[in-house]
Amino acid sequence: MVSFQEINSPLRTIMTPGPVEVDPRVLRAMSNPILGQFDPAFTTMMNETMEMLRGVFQTKNKWAFPIDGTSRSGLEAVLCSVLEPGDKVLIPIFGRFGHLLTEIAERNGADIHLMECEWGTVFDQEEIINEVKRVKPKVLAVVHGETSTGCMQPLDKVGPACRELGVLTIVDAVATIGGTEVKVDEWQLDAVIGGTQKCLSVPSGMAPITYNERVEEILARRKKVEKGVATDQDRVNVQHPIRSNYFDLSQLQDYWGPRRLNHHTEATSMLYALREGVRIVLQEGLKERFSRHRFHERALIEGIKAMGLTLFNEGPQKLPMVTCVDIPEGVDGEKVRTMLLEQFGIEIASSFGPLHGKIWRIGAMGYSCRKENILFVLSALEASLIRNGAKIQVGRGLQAALDVYEAGSLQEKENGKESTVIK
Ligand SMILES: *Cc1c(COP(=O)(O)O)cnc(C)c1O
Repeated sequence: MVSFQEINSPLRTIMTPGPVEVDPRVLRAMSNPILGQFDPAFTTMMNETMEMLRGVFQTKNKWAFPIDGTSRSGLEAVLCSVLEPGDKVLIPIFGRFGHLLTEIAERNGADIHLMECEWGTVFDQEEIINEVKRVKPKVLAVVHGETSTGCMQPLDKVGPACRELGVLTIVDAVATIGGTEVKVDEWQLDAVIGGTQKCLSVPSGMAPITYNERVEEILARRKKVEKGVATDQDRVNVQHPIRSNYFDLSQLQDYWGPRRLNHHTEATSMLYALREGVRIVLQEGLKERFSRHRFHERALIEGIKAMGLTLFNEGPQKLPMVTCVDIPEGVDGEKVRTMLLEQFGIEIASSFGPLHGKIWRIGAMGYSCRKENILFVLSALEASLIRNGAKIQVGRGLQAALDVYEAGSLQEKENGKESTVIK
C-alpha cells in the first residue's frame, strides 16, 4: 500500500472574496475535544453562540443560529422553509448570487419575478420598491454584498417599505456580515443569512442566520415533526410541510431552543470555530471592525490606482471588502494569478459570467484584511505585472499605500488612540 504523508498545507496569503485566512484563535478553538450534542457544556456554547450572533446581526430576534453547511445552506434553509409552491418572489439581480437565490427559489416551486441591472451597478432603492408595489410578492429576496461584482445594494429604505407593504425581506448578507453594517432590526429585514468564510474568518461549513416572528409564524403553520421523535402534541399531518428535512427551520429551532428536539448531530468543531469567530468580532467591536475594513480598502485602492491600473467600479455602491481591478489590455489575467500563487503564495480571484477574464477580484476580509497583506499583494502584483509585460507605473503603488498608512497612524496619534485599526 502507498503510505500517505500527514497533511501539511502550505501557508498562503489569501486575498479572495472567500474563503479567507482563518484567525489563529479560531483554529485553536477547533482543536478542542469533541462533546456530545446534548452535553450541558456544549448546549451552553450553543446558547452563547446564539447570543453573540444577535450582537453581530444587530438584532433582538429570538432566533439567531447557524445552519450546518456552507453559506448557501443558510439560503436554502430560509427559502425552503418560507416558500410554499406558487408563492410570489421578487429577486433583484446584480450579479451571480442573485441568480443563486433565483435557482433555490425556483427549485422550491416559487413563482419567480426578476429585475436585472448591469453587473457592476446596483439598483436605486426606489426602483426596487416600485417593483415590489407592482408585483406584490410574498417575499423580496436580495443580495446585500455581491462578491461577484464587488457591489453593495443599499437596503435601509427597501426593508421598511416592504414591511409597510406586508412583504417579507430575505437578505443574503453572506459577504457583508462582520465586515460592514448589516442592521437587521433597523432596516426591518425579516430573515438574514450570513457566511463564515468571509468577514468572520471562520472556515467554510456553517451559515449563521437570523429571522423574526413574521417568519416564525410561517414556520409554525408548516411545522411537521419527524415521526421517530414526535410526541402526541406534535402534528404530523400538515398541508404544506417544509419539503426538506435537513433544512427545516421549524425543527431546527426546536433543536436550538429549550426543547432540544433531536435532529442532526451538531457539527461540534465548526461550532467551536463559529463561537470563537463571533467572539473575536464582538471583542474588536463592530464599529472598529467596519472602519478597519474601510481603512485597508483605501490603502489597497490608492496602491492599485497609483500603479496605473483602473478599478472596475468605484463609488458609493462599492463593496468595501472586495476590490475589482480591470485586467490591463494585452495581459493574461490567469497568468498573473498563477504567478502570484506560485511565486508569492498569494491567492486573488478571477470572476464569473460576463466578467470572466475581464477583472481580478481582490478580497480584504476579516483576518486577511491587514496591513502586511495589503502591502504584500500590492508588491507581488506589481512584480507579476512587470513580468507579464504590463505597462504600469513602477514603484508608485506601495508608496501610495504607505502614504495612507502613515496618514492613518498620524491621525490615530492625534486622537490619542492606540493603534487598533492599523495592525
Ligand atoms: C460566498 C457567497 C455565497 C455562497 O457561499 P458558499 O459558502 O460557497 O455556499 C453566497 N452569497 C454570497 C453573496 C457570497 O459571497
